[in-house]
Amino acid sequence: MRDEIHKTKKGHIIMKKNKSVMVFIEYTEESIAEVSLELVCKGKELAEKLQVPLEAIAVGFGANLRRELIKLGQYGCKSVYLIEDERLKHFTSVPYAKAVVETLQRVQPQIVLFGATTTGRDLAPRVASALKCGLTADCTDLQLGEHQIKGQTFHNTLLQIRPAFGGNIVATIVSPEHSPSMATVREGVMRINPPSGNEEHRAAIVDEKVCFDSSSDFPSEVIEIIKSERSVDLKQAKIIVAAGMGAASHEAMALIKELARVIGAEVAVSRPVVDAGILGHDHQVGQTGTTVRPTLYIACGISGQIQHRAGMAESKRIIAINRDPQAPIFSIAHYGIVGDVKDVIPKMIKAYKNK
Ligand SMILES: Cc1cc2nc3c(=O)[nH]c(=O)nc-3n(C[C@H](O)[C@H](O)[C@H](O)COP(=O)(O)OP(=O)(O)OC[C@H]3O[C@@H](n4cnc5c(N)ncnc54)[C@H](O)[C@@H]3O)c2cc1C
Repeated sequence: MRDEIHKTKKGHIIMKKNKSVMVFIEYTEESIAEVSLELVCKGKELAEKLQVPLEAIAVGFGANLRRELIKLGQYGCKSVYLIEDERLKHFTSVPYAKAVVETLQRVQPQIVLFGATTTGRDLAPRVASALKCGLTADCTDLQLGEHQIKGQTFHNTLLQIRPAFGGNIVATIVSPEHSPSMATVREGVMRINPPSGNEEHRAAIVDEKVCFDSSSDFPSEVIEIIKSERSVDLKQAKIIVAAGMGAASHEAMALIKELARVIGAEVAVSRPVVDAGILGHDHQVGQTGTTVRPTLYIACGISGQIQHRAGMAESKRIIAINRDPQAPIFSIAHYGIVGDVKDVIPKMIKAYKNK
């Protein structure tokens, strides 16, 4: 395990024991949320660079909970701190925050990661506030690097990277003077590496005891969960045909849907198309929509502003159709077609049908 070396203004060296990287695991419907696996994989990368263990923390209750948590060992997680209680079966803010805060106070990791989900966005600020440490919300990347402030040099500081000022800049945020460094990370931006497949790679379960007061720690109760069905799962789509404002007319949208049908793709849109009420938010790609990584992304009449690119730039192949040759989307497209969507898409449909 490598120690962290800080150099003060007067040149004094401060040694700090490096502690673990920890991921908060979301467990719903008897399985671990995808975003938690994404964070475990990113956490492993950070932990390896820091030469510290990767750990996790889980709060909840369920027949398969322990079995699922043990499997995190196959993703490189050494141990999982588990707060298990029947009353914690469903997420509610107060007892979950208490469970996480008490455990973090005891374990003292140096980095804690949460998914930027409804649960993570509720829980992480409560935990950060209780621990009086920084929190960066909605990160799209995490790196380790050096940071200098007030004559001190902090090595291996967590660089928390996210779009800021409406997505016009990409900010790198650090909180080196307070531990742990905490971040929520957007779903879908980190890759899930395949598990080792070796059942002997088991995460050790560490049972944490938290004393809950039945009345004050449980001010709210989950009575019923009503799920809204997603109309599309863009994260899983291998091919996406996406429409922007240049393809938002009734006629162009019909062509987009037909092209998607012919090539077995899902339909996505840019934000203004959602704002115009043409398709629902489930279809939106971008900074405030879904992050996608399909094999093929066909951007039709999309200018390619940074907020849209943030959600699709990692696509394996990008075809852009736009009548403006200067459109920013062409800067990241592998194939660019300058033309009107109403001329180009029928030709593509015909070509794919003939194939
Ligand atoms: C905080 C914040 C978050 C945001 N989040 C998102 C997000 O998640 N996702 C997102 O998409 N946007 C998001 N935006 C909006 C973003 O800044 C852009 O405004 C948006 O992406 C533009 O959408 P568009 O490309 O469809 O439309 P436009 O910018 O209007 O571009 C239309 C394009 O179509 C081309 N065109 C027009 N007619 C035709 C035609 N007949 N044939 C071919 N091409 C044609 C034009 O040349 C142009 O390039 C966000 C903005 C902010 C401030």
